[in-house]
Amino acid sequence: MEKLWSLSEGDRAEELDQLLARSRPRNSAGVEVTGLEVLRLSPPMSKKQLRNQFQKEQGKSGKFGFRRHTAGTTGELTQVSLDRKELSRMLGVRDYCFRHYGVKLGQREARLWGRPESGIKSWVKNFVMNRRVFHSVGPQAQSEVVELLKWQPDYLYGYASLLLEAAQIISNMDIEFDPPKCVVCTAESILPAQKAYISRAFKAPVAEEYGLTEFDVIAFECAEGHRHLVNPWVIIEKSKDHGCLATDVSRTSQSLVRYELGDHVNLIVSGCTMLGAKEVIHQLEGRSINRFAYLSKNEKFHALEFARAVNRYQLKSGEAFEFTVYQYQYGCFLLETSSVPAKGLLDLSNFISEYLYSVVGVCVNIRSTSGNVNKDPASKKGYFVQEMEIDHDN
Ligand SMILES: [Zn+2]
Repeated sequence: MEKLWSLSEGDRAEELDQLLARSRPRNSAGVEVTGLEVLRLSPPMSKKQLRNQFQKEQGKSGKFGFRRHTAGTTGELTQVSLDRKELSRMLGVRDYCFRHYGVKLGQREARLWGRPESGIKSWVKNFVMNRRVFHSVGPQAQSEVVELLKWQPDYLYGYASLLLEAAQIISNMDIEFDPPKCVVCTAESILPAQKAYISRAFKAPVAEEYGLTEFDVIAFECAEGHRHLVNPWVIIEKSKDHGCLATDVSRTSQSLVRYELGDHVNLIVSGCTMLGAKEVIHQLEGRSINRFAYLSKNEKFHALEFARAVNRYQLKSGEAFEFTVYQYQYGCFLLETSSVPAKGLLDLSNFISEYLYSVVGVCVNIRSTSGNVNKDPASKKGYFVQEMEIDHDN
């Protein structure tokens, strides 16, 4: 893997071309992809097409080594099959990313996950993986976090919102502990200020991971803060009409050719060579469905602006809280925070209004309240909830 990344772009393309000639995955039109040229001409593949293909192949032969499945962002089930070699390649990519922070695969992992796992099966799995699951929300949150620190994990892994909860608990406690080597956050979008807060609380670097069940890790953050593409066997291309497309040139038990990633990924080329490819994910849009805030029927702005505004506020005040923005009517927004900011809710509302005025040039009505922000990480709804009925004619 490291050899592949050390090659020049042209040499790597040649390697991938040869790999395709051997693995010959089928594109969504059923044509064998025997090289990069055929790949360029292949149509995109949707989640639905992948699902149909899986069912067809399953009918043909019953031999699959490993399976993973996901409900994803749309709630539709995706099934992925892997043979032993493909699984070990995926684990290799993960190991490569972790080593960047001095962590080896198989070292102590403290995992902050959504639902509590129970049963002998998950207990065995966690034991084998040298992993323990902790819950940083609920009545036991504080004792769970204390337990976590006492266990001295090599690294933490989990949903950003749950890591943030744990970080807040630590900040409010006077406790000595050996810091982990790294904190890896996954699955949810996270603000730079929130990342900095988690890093301060755990006294460790924070790395963002971007992955999909179909491919496992796609991008991983280097120590300089870029989210580099890290799997040398996965080709990511930009497409005008279909967002980003991903092709796994090595996969033989299942064909993933120009597969639509579904998330709004924006790629740029960085000069950084610390990890994986020079291509890095510049902007990763939240995994939510409706990302527009409406001022009137015809005027809208991207909900990302709320995240930018809150990020600025948090950088200025040195605080970190979670938030959700709701829209019930045109031009009016309700900002719900997990705790009351030190300077009060009105101060926050005014700050957000002023920021938005500078961006959209219109006075936006913001009301802030403190309450239960959307804490179900499994829903991946993100920070913006559109509650209005919108005509999608534009
Ligand atoms: Zn970098």
